[in-house]
Amino acid sequence: MNALDLWVKETHQDSVALGFKVEKTLFSGKSAFQQVDVVQTKGHGAMLLNDGIIMVSERDEHIYHEMIAHVPLYVHPAPSRVLVIGGGDGGTVREVVKHDNISRVVMVEIDEMVVNACREYIPSISHSLDDPRVELIIGDGVKYVAATEEKFDVVLIDSTDPIGPAAPLFDRQFYQNAAGILEKDGIMISQAESPFYDFEIQSAMLANQRPFFKRLHLYTFTNLTYPGGLWSFGFGSNGLCPLTDFDRNRFNASRVQTRYYTPEIHVAAFVLPKFVKENLSDMLDPIPPLEKAFVK
Ligand code: SAM
Repeated sequence: MNALDLWVKETHQDSVALGFKVEKTLFSGKSAFQQVDVVQTKGHGAMLLNDGIIMVSERDEHIYHEMIAHVPLYVHPAPSRVLVIGGGDGGTVREVVKHDNISRVVMVEIDEMVVNACREYIPSISHSLDDPRVELIIGDGVKYVAATEEKFDVVLIDSTDPIGPAAPLFDRQFYQNAAGILEKDGIMISQAESPFYDFEIQSAMLANQRPFFKRLHLYTFTNLTYPGGLWSFGFGSNGLCPLTDFDRNRFNASRVQTRYYTPEIHVAAFVLPKFVKENLSDMLDPIPPLEKAFVK
């Protein structure tokens, strides 16, 4: 008998579909927030899906997680305390704790089922959740930033698309509260969707962030499992510039191992394709001339 021809198929805006061949289902459950599935794929290793939308796959997750974590951590001159909102797979935390100077990481994930499924079935991504510097809080990131009295050097918003419990993570009030818990040199990075397909979400998100950050930028990276292949993060800071305040010597001197992130990739990521720049120019700060990027 032939094996079943099973595929994960993610459709986007009813016009594009992305498919990955599935070998077997590792976990399937329904939480109070969403359907959570982990499947073993033929070409991309284990893959997490929330409500049928691909969150991470083992084959390429390092790109997303290295770019969300190392970009701000090598711009901030002395990052010590990091807050992660969402990020239940643990990949962002894994990259953050590679930095010896990080003393505390708080991760606030709304859905314990995501964390438990990833702990059990994708340890290559989730293993650093047990690092002693990490405090895992199962709760709503929106409520957490509104209530906490703690301050952070870097806030990383590793969220799903703006649907269901993640929708308020794209609101103005949330960004105001997140900016309010940043230290003087603080930086906030936010999952900013596809520059091709999600222009409306992206521009609304940046317009909501703009009033609370002295500098606001967007940077892009490759992602093989999200529609369009090109993905982005927002970079908001109390003044630090992602290029002139970037210290490549700190990266070169550190023992941090990466597979995608390099100082050159860091700088190049802020050079936006022309259509993205034109779409968003009234919200973003211009980047300085590239030769100023490697002054440190
Ligand atoms: N890299 C992924 C992407 O862009 O698709 C994000 C992955 S991570 C698994 C996103 C997590 O955000 C999900 O597990 C989801 O449960 C969590 N999340 C959604 N809304 C949240 C909220 N309000 N507070 C905390 N976590 C939330």
